[in-house]
Amino acid sequence: MDSSTLLEPHTVVGLPTAPHVITRGEGVRVWDTEGKQYIDGVAGLWCVTLGYSEPRLVEAAAKQLEKLPFYGSFNHRTSDVTVALADDLAALSPIPMGRVFFGNSGSDANDSAIKFAWFYHCAKGRSHRKKILSHHRGYHGATTAAGSATGLAHIHNGFGIPLPGFLRMHTPDVLSTQANGLSDEEFVDWLIDELELLISQEGPDTIAAFIAEPILGAGGLVVPPDGYYDRVQEVLTRHDILFIADEVITGFGRTGSMFGTTEFGLRPDMITVAKGLSSAYLPISAVLVSDAVCDVLARGSQEIRSFGHGFTYSGHPVAAAVARETLAILQERDIPGRVRAAAPVLTNALDKFLGAPLVRDVRTYGLLGGVEFDAAACGMRPGEPGKELVTTAAEHGVLLRFAGDTVVFAPPLVSTDADLEEMVDRFAAAYRTFLSAHG
Ligand code: PLP
Repeated sequence: MDSSTLLEPHTVVGLPTAPHVITRGEGVRVWDTEGKQYIDGVAGLWCVTLGYSEPRLVEAAAKQLEKLPFYGSFNHRTSDVTVALADDLAALSPIPMGRVFFGNSGSDANDSAIKFAWFYHCAKGRSHRKKILSHHRGYHGATTAAGSATGLAHIHNGFGIPLPGFLRMHTPDVLSTQANGLSDEEFVDWLIDELELLISQEGPDTIAAFIAEPILGAGGLVVPPDGYYDRVQEVLTRHDILFIADEVITGFGRTGSMFGTTEFGLRPDMITVAKGLSSAYLPISAVLVSDAVCDVLARGSQEIRSFGHGFTYSGHPVAAAVARETLAILQERDIPGRVRAAAPVLTNALDKFLGAPLVRDVRTYGLLGGVEFDAAACGMRPGEPGKELVTTAAEHGVLLRFAGDTVVFAPPLVSTDADLEEMVDRFAAAYRTFLSAHG
């Protein structure tokens, strides 16, 4: 199918080849224009948690479209379903969060949380606190502020971001060269020393917030070592730096808990969510804001008689109705419990690649998996093995993504054991093809 009019996101503009066009989905499978069937090993973009044919979500959208297709949430007027979803999310939150702000994407949720951190510090008379800390290889989106917080060069190149004041911390990746020869504990000590150094060089009273994913997703499925976030939080609290947990991937069951915050014992001031909030059936995101932060926002807002932030589609009623139904299904079917039961199936299947030729590492957590390749051993440049492997995987009937040299798995959370095994079998076939070319 021709694409001369579509400016494709995250794609080199003007490629001579036609894009791969998907036309239909059912369960954990999708079909393209040629009628070829794929297992979707990354749930769209880590988001279609309930699979492609959940009738309850379709019905929730249809009912809301008939009742009230739109009402906005500006100027103290909103819709009933928007208010109800805020209540649902506040009740589901892993730690007490008094208020919920709605947006349309993970990127705008993170931009919003960053702006809220700025507003918070301004309201406290500390408008000099503007800098934002984030991980090298963290992914927080592509908008101006979230893209600046993102620690991946390909998101910055050509756009002149990051903006000034976005500070980069080391990736808590136990495979990194900095971790060479260190125990996990020693590596955490080193990371914390580096963080303290960065904060003291920049000046603690210039830093507004730290934003981080519990598990780094698009940066290559990095699971931080035990105790890392405890230590980071101790430093943040000491310096009065706000903590924004980006749960855009890890929220709503992916890790085996409803939130990664619970898994990693986080105590964030704000949590951002999107993707799984509606199983991606409609675009919606949210920022969960703690009472302590909200109190300050309210004080500051009343002083200046304004809180000039929000989008036309903040809390869109149809997206909110679908999100409410998604949350109901996640709880009724105990989807996090299902993830805990399915996780060993994914781990066992992927662990077969441990020690295999050209493979550097295998990592899994809940229904997230990553097989990292050694680009040098493949005789390739960094990033090339993953790219070729996901192309070959598609030829073998499984859609995957690559992040650096890591091939990433994030299947729908409703995948059966047989679906997971078939997904990895299809990837194994692709791996054998790759190995015969590069091994
Ligand atoms: N944060 C994380 C952790 C993500 O993985 C993503 C997208 O993959 C985003 C934010 C940005 O979300 P969106 O693409 O909906 O703007």
